[in-house]
Amino acid sequence: MFKIDLHSHSTISDGTYTPSELVAYAAGQGVDVMALTDHDDLGGLDEARAAAEQCGMGFVNGVEISVSWNNRTIHVVGLRVDPAHSGLQAGLAAIRAGRMTRAEAMAADLDKAGVAGSLAGALGYARERVISRTHFARFLVAQGHAKDLKSVYRKYLVKGKPGFVAHRWADMADAISWIRGSGGVAVLAHPGRYDIGRPTLHKLFADFKAAGGEAAEVVSGSHTPDQYATFADMVNEYGLRASAGSDYHGPAHNYFDMGRLSPLPAGCVPVWRDWPELPRLADEHACA
Ligand code: AMP
Ligand code: MN
Ligand code: MN
Ligand code: MN
Repeated sequence: MFKIDLHSHSTISDGTYTPSELVAYAAGQGVDVMALTDHDDLGGLDEARAAAEQCGMGFVNGVEISVSWNNRTIHVVGLRVDPAHSGLQAGLAAIRAGRMTRAEAMAADLDKAGVAGSLAGALGYARERVISRTHFARFLVAQGHAKDLKSVYRKYLVKGKPGFVAHRWADMADAISWIRGSGGVAVLAHPGRYDIGRPTLHKLFADFKAAGGEAAEVVSGSHTPDQYATFADMVNEYGLRASAGSDYHGPAHNYFDMGRLSPLPAGCVPVWRDWPELPRLADEHACA
C-alpha cells in the first residue's frame, strides 16, 4: 500500500513550511501521494507540484474552504481542483477579503482587552494573502500572552474570549459548486472536530451530500481512532467516499505528523479509488 495524505498546509495559509519545503518534508516522511490544501488559497499549488514532480512524488491539487453552515464554521476540502478556474478563484478571493475585515475587527477587540498592535503583529506572521487566527495566535505567544499555540485557544480567539469575531464565510453549497465547477471533488473536512451533537452531525452529512459533496475525511489528524470507525460507518450510510489527511501545519503545531496516518478502515470507498493518476503516481515515487 502507498502512503497518501490529502490534507496539509503551507506558508500560503497558516502552515510554517513553504510549499516546496512541505513537499520535501512529506517525501522524507515516506508519503507517496499528497495534496496541499491551504485555507482559501490556491497560490502554493504550482510550486508544490513542481517540487513533487522533481522527486517523482504524487501530487493532488487541493484547497480547504471556510464555510458557514447553520451559523457554524465548517471546512470543505476540494481535491483535484483546477487552480486556473475563474469561479473558484473569485470565490476564494472574496473569502480572503472577508478574512482581512475580520482581522481588523479581531485586532480592535484585542485592543479593548489590552493587547495592542495585534493586526500588524499578525500580518507580520502571514507570509502571503491569507490572514488567520493562527497568525494572531503566533503573535500572542511571541508577546507572552500565552505559553504556546494550544493555550492561546483557551484564553483568546474563541467564542466568549478576546479577539473572537463571529464571521460569515462562504455558503456551503457555493463552496461545493466552485470545487465541482473546477473539476474537483468536495470533501467534508475533519467531521469529528466540530463539537456538535449526533443529530446535528447527521444533518451536516445529509446537507453536505444533498449539496453535491462526494466524500468526508474518515482518517484525520483531528480524529481519534474511535472516530475512524464512526466516520467509516457514516460515509457508507450517506453514500460518500472516504478521505485521509493529517492536516499538518508544520513542526511548531500540535498537529498529527505527516507519514503516520492509519489506513482507511475496511469497507469504505477511498475518494481516490478511480483517480486515473493513481496508483501510477505512487509507483513513481522516488523521494524518500
Ligand atoms: P481561521 O480559519 O482564521 O478561523 O483559523 C483557524 C485555524 O486556527 C485552524 O485552521 C487551525 O490551524 C487554528 N486553530 C483553531 N483552533 C485551534 C486550536 N484549538 N488549536 C490549535 N489550532 C487551532
Ligand atoms: Mn489551519
Ligand atoms: Mn480545517
Ligand atoms: Mn486544515
